[in-house]
Amino acid sequence: QKHLSDRINNLATSQTLAMAAKTRELREEGKDIIGLSLGEPDFNTPDFIKDAAIQAINDNYNSYTPVDGYVELKDAIITKFKRDNNLTYNRAQIVVSTGAKQSLANAAMVLLNPGDEVLLPCPYWVSYAEIVKLAEGVPVEVPTTVESNFKITPQQLRDSITPKTKMIWYSSPCNPSGMVYSKQELRALADVLVDYPNIIILSDEIYEHINFVGEHASMADFPDMYDRTVTVNGVSKAFAMTGWRIGYIGAPEWIARACNKMQGQITSGANCIAQRAVITALLAPVSEIKFMVDTFKERRKLIISLMDTIKGFKTPEPEGAFYVFPNISYFFGKTLKGHKINNATDFSMFLLEEALVATVTGDAFGNPNCIRISYAASEDQITEALKRIKEAVS
Ligand code: PLP
Repeated sequence: QKHLSDRINNLATSQTLAMAAKTRELREEGKDIIGLSLGEPDFNTPDFIKDAAIQAINDNYNSYTPVDGYVELKDAIITKFKRDNNLTYNRAQIVVSTGAKQSLANAAMVLLNPGDEVLLPCPYWVSYAEIVKLAEGVPVEVPTTVESNFKITPQQLRDSITPKTKMIWYSSPCNPSGMVYSKQELRALADVLVDYPNIIILSDEIYEHINFVGEHASMADFPDMYDRTVTVNGVSKAFAMTGWRIGYIGAPEWIARACNKMQGQITSGANCIAQRAVITALLAPVSEIKFMVDTFKERRKLIISLMDTIKGFKTPEPEGAFYVFPNISYFFGKTLKGHKINNATDFSMFLLEEALVATVTGDAFGNPNCIRISYAASEDQITEALKRIKEAVS
């Protein structure tokens, strides 16, 4: 430890991955744990995408790719942005990376100086704060509640801005709350940002297709926000391709060039076979993945109906992604099966040990009154998990 850098010693371990490791450990001891902690679709990658990868191997794609991605992939991304989001980008504005996670890390590294503040509407995705800190930025949490549907208001945004504010990062549909900002809601936030032209927006749209309420809205679609927005997306969630590790950005050219320069020294670009497969994935009609979205929608209905029967779980109906984020503060101060519950972490550990269900504490997402439950699991698993949770807490 003492020989490690301050940088790594100050970095928190990813709590979602830590929960996954704990789950594996308990399973090895023979415990039948239902894992609802990971943000990972439980589908196989569709065959037409796998076939494209096999073809790429047989066609001898094996060399270094351009650092920012194959031209054909960038063109597919340009087509996708236009088709799905009405966004016009040229090749110099696109950078392909090793997962959206690297896209986020690139953006932080190239835009933040030490002490620059990044607004993070809560709850936010677990890695945002740590990535910002790695780049020596300062994460600034903007709290929300169940009552505000886990969305920030324009006034809250205005009140959070300081002379040091450099960026705002958010995901919509949101991991972990599942909430979706409508076009009007985004416009109201944009109306505040108009007064602060130096603030750059990072709009993480990786769950865009997993949206149960209607049209996906992109911040960059507003002409007055386009030149200051980094649109992040990727194939992990919508195409069930988490392990393939491909994400990308559309951004102002000066930011894209900087990200290209950054990853040119760090990864030399994303995996060549995965890039070829993603060309096929992105050019396919969105209807090819609709069956997964429809399945998530059914599961959402199931998990909400089961959760409604458990006293002490309070949650707005999620509008997208595949998580529910109930407020469980009702249990704080209580003792359940001999476990004193003081906070969400205690509650999540209690569920793991007594209900044998893995969830993630809301602390990891900047909301200490909630836990995140993923419903990227079969209906049988969801039904059994909620039955166990209900028994454990009653
Ligand atoms: N952004 C959000 C909101 C996510 O939930 C995730 C994955 O969990 C990512 C980015 C990273 O995705 P990738 O697998 O493309 O790195």
